[in-house]
Amino acid sequence: MEPFKNRGLYIINAATEDCDLDSNTRFVKNADYLAEISGELPCDNVKEYIGDGNIPLSPFLKAADNVDDIRQVVSRLSDFSRDMLNWKMRKSTAFQLLNDGSIEYIATALSNKMGSYLYECDNDLKTLQCLQEAVLEGTKHLFIETNQDQVISGLISELASINKEQLHQLAEEMDGIDGIILAYRKIVEVFSNFMDIYPNLLPAETYHLYKDGENPKLGIATCSFSDIKTFYQDAYESIMALIYIPVCLDNIKIRGDYQNFPASLNYTFQQKNYRYMENDFKRYKSLDNGMKLSKFIDDEPFRGMVAMPANSVLRNGIGHNNIRYDGVNQKISAFDRKNHNVVKLEIKLIDMAIECLGLVKSAVMMSEILLFILRFEFGTNNIHSIIHPRFYKNSDRNDKCPCGSNKKFKKCCLNEIQEILSEKG
Ligand SMILES: [Zn+2]
Repeated sequence: MEPFKNRGLYIINAATEDCDLDSNTRFVKNADYLAEISGELPCDNVKEYIGDGNIPLSPFLKAADNVDDIRQVVSRLSDFSRDMLNWKMRKSTAFQLLNDGSIEYIATALSNKMGSYLYECDNDLKTLQCLQEAVLEGTKHLFIETNQDQVISGLISELASINKEQLHQLAEEMDGIDGIILAYRKIVEVFSNFMDIYPNLLPAETYHLYKDGENPKLGIATCSFSDIKTFYQDAYESIMALIYIPVCLDNIKIRGDYQNFPASLNYTFQQKNYRYMENDFKRYKSLDNGMKLSKFIDDEPFRGMVAMPANSVLRNGIGHNNIRYDGVNQKISAFDRKNHNVVKLEIKLIDMAIECLGLVKSAVMMSEILLFILRFEFGTNNIHSIIHPRFYKNSDRNDKCPCGSNKKFKKCCLNEIQEILSEKG
């Protein structure tokens, strides 16, 4: 295992030995077992792999064996360990500073870097863009089918065409720049917590790398239900608290007014709890999460792009402790509050881990939306920031600027980007 160690993967509390891998069959020649990294009891899914004459593999290793390029997984692991160290040393400090409301020091904590480019953080907006770069860097591997940069460019160009007067009214509803920064702080907390539990979710991430057509019966040996349930619950709450933002953006985009909610909500808004409220915006915000979700259909652009994995039964099961976890079979059952014999949901641990990754992806999209609104609001005070240089790569001087300002590239970010690129060269 020495090569792994050199790449930054440390194995704690376990004996390691060199193994001799047959490069053709991928079987280990001098070992009886390939070890689990955790000390967890083998679940049913693990047991299925034992007894077919092959060396039993842990679910994670089995998953790794099913992806196209095993080297990708190994380098992913080593990248991850390096990222984690880096994260713990510098980036978590930046998150802490944001949380304390000390934006002015974040740039120093991040060494004013945006990727490999040095970047002058001479205003709060630029500092937040710099922090966002850390977020994108730490989560890019979760965007597997479509590359993260493409997804975000798509979101920004969708936002660019939104009615700016309406967007400003929405920003006012969010208590302006201070309120939006507060919302951004809440979302960044999701990433901060995510970095702590990320190792637990590696099998779920590997699952995304599966070759087409595979139907894996995957267990998860890197965590138990208790390791991820708090993250799940907190991330769910943080995103749900802001879900009105993409909903209102769809209201603007499709129905012309941020307060013009889909007709599917009319009936609810007529009910006596809501009837006497000031307006539909207040009505929507006061709906409980379950109600918000039952009307939450992913067929409108912004709600679709945020793609919140909205499993309210699981969330409420955790919140009200109406949940049973069968560790051997890795099955979670959420039962009815009043009648514990009624099971409302059964889900495998791996599926919950995959939902955790989905929550993080939703948080990435949400953070980009918040930054877009911030850029727009700061822009009215003539404060400007570029986004990461990689987003400008294929733009021509006369194209619309990729930052979403709706100005021409040459009249918006071009000079600043050229400056950064030339400094590096
Ligand atoms: Zn621009």
